[in-house]
Amino acid sequence: MKTIDDFNFSNKKALIRVDFNVPLDADFKVTDTNRIEAAKPTIIKVLEDGGSAILMSHLGRPKGQRNPDLSLQHIATAVSEIIGVQIKFVDDCVGDAAVKAAAELQPGEVLLLENLRFHSEEEKGDKEFAEQLAGLGDIYVNDAFGTAHRAHASTTIAAASFPENKCFGYLLAKEIEAIDKVMRTGEKPVLAILGGAKVSSKITIIENILDKVDHLIIGGGMTYTFVKAQGGKVGDSICEDDKMQLALNILQQAAAKGVAVHLPVDVLAADDFNNDAATQVVDVQQIPDGWQGLDAGPKTLEIFKEVILSSNTILWNGPVGVFEMESFARGTITIGQYIDQATQKGAFSLVGGGDSVAAVKQFGFENKVSYVSTGGGAMLESLEGKTLPGIAAIIES
Ligand code: AMP
Repeated sequence: MKTIDDFNFSNKKALIRVDFNVPLDADFKVTDTNRIEAAKPTIIKVLEDGGSAILMSHLGRPKGQRNPDLSLQHIATAVSEIIGVQIKFVDDCVGDAAVKAAAELQPGEVLLLENLRFHSEEEKGDKEFAEQLAGLGDIYVNDAFGTAHRAHASTTIAAASFPENKCFGYLLAKEIEAIDKVMRTGEKPVLAILGGAKVSSKITIIENILDKVDHLIIGGGMTYTFVKAQGGKVGDSICEDDKMQLALNILQQAAAKGVAVHLPVDVLAADDFNNDAATQVVDVQQIPDGWQGLDAGPKTLEIFKEVILSSNTILWNGPVGVFEMESFARGTITIGQYIDQATQKGAFSLVGGGDSVAAVKQFGFENKVSYVSTGGGAMLESLEGKTLPGIAAIIES
């Protein structure tokens, strides 16, 4: 795996695919600069080597059309402030203006290209368009994990023009390393905590992960399909009846592979899907009609605590309750606290994919776990065991 540390960028132009798809307010000001900050170490390394950086990204979904609202020019000031260099901007990512701006770039300078997705060729993975992008730089660096699962021109196809001179930036390398720790090299016991709403959206992950983990905690809305499949009463809880056989198969496969599965034993049930609903703690197998399980119960959290604190590698994907409502956030917050404690004891913890990342940020655990993934879809596909095209394109020569 070639990373940016394998190259010296002195007098070289690094063509860097970053993920600057950041949120803007009504005045086109960046409201969350995390993604720009995440790319900073890679850009600084290039500049400190004595090279220059050409940054390319998409912003929003312009669908192949120029759209002034989605111009990357809006973020130029924020990038300059964060990188500490007055960056240059060119209002296209290919064509004469881009070629000229790239050619004139001096060591220590940074050029930001206009939104890649103003050209429909980007998302189509068009080879000629990718070659035009590639022509701008000497070394290709992919540092955009959030789009690594897309075979777009800038994320994948352009890499082919740099058979020897392509590498991962620091951010992408960190993501790959974190996934690797959970899926391959992590110290045992390895635990996956899978929550979220539905079995159907997590099934491929569960099937893939059974070969990698010693313990599997299943929580959240997924619980009730498993409970009902085993003969329990789930009341009005979210349940996918057509996935009950699948749930039983998963439990069977887990047993055959020696994976210990931990399901909730009690839940906080509500008489409505509403923050102000009446609640009671009930046995997970005995949820009365008219009531639905919306969070993990106290006995369940005690069981989960023991498993979490005795694990050396922890993956967390999906909340264990409807954390968006304060009344049902306790379980998810408590899981975060246990993972924090396990991490302090030396465990490696990765939080990735969708809503668990939102929960971790909302409840302030971001810096208490070992790593929070920056890519939703890309992380989910990695956990499903897929090789992401953006990563394969760098590894293949
Ligand atoms: P996912 O995107 O699959 O990770 O699902 C996340 C969503 O699952 C969140 O919006 C949670 O509110 C929801 N969720 C978690 N537990 C439950 C539950 N017991 N009942 C209904 N929805 C739930």
